Amino acid sequence: MNILVVNCGSSTVKYQLFQMEDEDHYNVMAKGVVERIGIPGSRLEHHTPSGDFVEEQPVANHRVALELVLATLTAGKARVLSSIREIEAVGHRVVHGGEKFTGSVLITDEVLAAIRSFADLAPLHNPPNILGIEACQELMPGTPQVAVFDTAFHGTLPEYAYIYPIPYEYYEKYRIRRYGFHGTSHRYVAERAAKMMGRDLGELRLITCHMGSGVSFAAIRYGKSIDTSMGFTPLEGLVMGTRCGDIDPAIIFFLMDKEGLSAKQVEEILNKKSGVLGVSGISSDTRDIEDAAPHNHRARLTLEIIAYRAKKYIGAYYAILGGLDGLVFTAGIGENSSYIRKSICSGLEHLGILIDDERNTVRRKEAFISRDDSPVKVMVIPTNEELMIARDTWRIVRTMR
Ligand code: AMP
Repeated sequence: MNILVVNCGSSTVKYQLFQMEDEDHYNVMAKGVVERIGIPGSRLEHHTPSGDFVEEQPVANHRVALELVLATLTAGKARVLSSIREIEAVGHRVVHGGEKFTGSVLITDEVLAAIRSFADLAPLHNPPNILGIEACQELMPGTPQVAVFDTAFHGTLPEYAYIYPIPYEYYEKYRIRRYGFHGTSHRYVAERAAKMMGRDLGELRLITCHMGSGVSFAAIRYGKSIDTSMGFTPLEGLVMGTRCGDIDPAIIFFLMDKEGLSAKQVEEILNKKSGVLGVSGISSDTRDIEDAAPHNHRARLTLEIIAYRAKKYIGAYYAILGGLDGLVFTAGIGENSSYIRKSICSGLEHLGILIDDERNTVRRKEAFISRDDSPVKVMVIPTNEELMIARDTWRIVRTMR
């Protein structure tokens, strides 16, 4: 089955075309990204096993972007299909599934209406996801479309983990609660971790650390997410590229008062100017911070805060899991930065986390980085959300045949 996986952001469309025999046997026929949609300098980057292609042309909106993707897949020198009809299903990444969706679903009018109704909860993310779905429905009428939600994997959080201690009426009125994000990534690496360990996911206690420009950790007991660090929005939790993570909420009101800022302005500061960028004053990219650390105090401090806060989450999740079998690092930082992995794990030997320095030099490939005698297996696992979306789509569409 040929499955197109689509991930629409506010100004980007990322895509991958899978040829799936079954869940474990597949081939990536092409992948790429359309960038700068609706702004000058739009371009498509397209990769196939036979070469890489770049096309620069104005792309006014998501529909035009998807038209360009479909045209590139089916015509010209970069084509891998002879017609759009060869795409048998489309899988969409959708950020917010609210409380309604705890798994992937076939997109119907009712599902699309529900996704629209969650736009309030994810104002930056769900609207472009919806544009992508609508464009594909128009361009490929009759082709089944599946939604895979970032929030769905955390649908198993117990009530006491997702209700915030604020007046309960705000949960009832606005559904303010912990939702959690990066669920597709946490689910993927948890499944891979079980495979690597040669154990059943249903018997493992895992902490999965998704550390990219956004950062979230999840506590996964016997295959189910029981807590996660992102909350009502992706602003809560660990230190991120430009997001603050956990802070005292009173800081918001103090800043509004002292600096004469509006709520929107403070929101912007906490989302776009905080985290790694805010503390270091250098960059939101931890590579720049690692480079600057030997001669810059605030760069060193940033790395110390990242590690310190990560340790606190690992300790907390260890406690609620009642022990730990595996610790997984994934995404840009988790897959690449041996320095940050090491600084998080050092000092956690009393929890049974013993890192092997030589093994910890690994980058972007699956590997154990713990010592053979480490009671907790520590792993690096490159995430693959697109594959997860393709698999879910394959499973759902196959049953329709
Ligand atoms: P992602 O959001 O998963 O694409 O991750 C992007 C982030 O990963 C970048 O902003 C960097 O902070 C980080 N990153 C990527 N490569 C490296 C690396 N080699 N060393 C340290 N950090 C890295």
